[in-house]
Amino acid sequence: MRKSTMIVAICLLNLSALISGCSGVPSSDNHQENTPDQPLIETTPASYGSNDIIYQVSTINALLEGVYDGETDYGTLKKHGDFGIGTFSGLDGEMIELDSVIYQIKDDGNAYIADDSMTTPFAAVTFFDTDTERLITEPMNRSQTEEYLAALMPNRNIMYAIKINGTFDYVRTRSVPKQEKPYPRLVEVTKDQPEFEFEKVDGVIVGYWLPLYMEGINVPGYHLHFITEDKTAGGHLLEFDISEARVEIDNTYDLFIELPESNDFLDADLSGNTGSELEQVER
Ligand code: ZN
Repeated sequence: MRKSTMIVAICLLNLSALISGCSGVPSSDNHQENTPDQPLIETTPASYGSNDIIYQVSTINALLEGVYDGETDYGTLKKHGDFGIGTFSGLDGEMIELDSVIYQIKDDGNAYIADDSMTTPFAAVTFFDTDTERLITEPMNRSQTEEYLAALMPNRNIMYAIKINGTFDYVRTRSVPKQEKPYPRLVEVTKDQPEFEFEKVDGVIVGYWLPLYMEGINVPGYHLHFITEDKTAGGHLLEFDISEARVEIDNTYDLFIELPESNDFLDADLSGNTGSELEQVER
């Protein structure tokens, strides 16, 4: 396992390390030599065997800054989750993983099964375990659904994976066209994004609700993707009207971040407050 992966995981899972100022950056190549009394650091977090862990590649701020080259392949990602969302190297479409199948929704709005060798610059997956399940039997628009989901979450301080299987009166999605270097910033790309509309369609919403403190790391609040029941089309979800649906929520307590080792990532300025840009990009 790579060093950057190991360091970040330990910082996230060890509060005392955070308080003592662990920066997430290896201080030396000889980490073990600097702490002779310590046993060799385990590269596997204690709770890693749990299904309640989100495995994430890179950070949303890096994506906002145009770090679009993938390093982690989807074969690796599938070992860490059967469910999730993200994008592809070069920002080549929206990713949705459902039941261990990775779908690529390209800028034509169509869904293609992705090869395990394809890579991602940003994705978050988990093994979906249903903690809460409800049936929606009355029509609900997006904001009503978000309020409904919020009432099912026991608090606003942990992470939630969300799956909604349903019949939709209306769905509007977007995807993004593949980018060429030098990569523009994400806010420029999404100014001109193809959108797609669906009426009377069966499909699945896959995504997350994440706490506000995740800003910079991932998308705070709701981030949802959609794929049709026949797995032919979908995208990043913008609007929807549910006719009826089954809602499932997976309460999630752990986060594992794998940071890229590329110079694009290492040299990116990730210190800015990009909250307002994120609002435009993920609207
Ligand atoms: Zn998205």
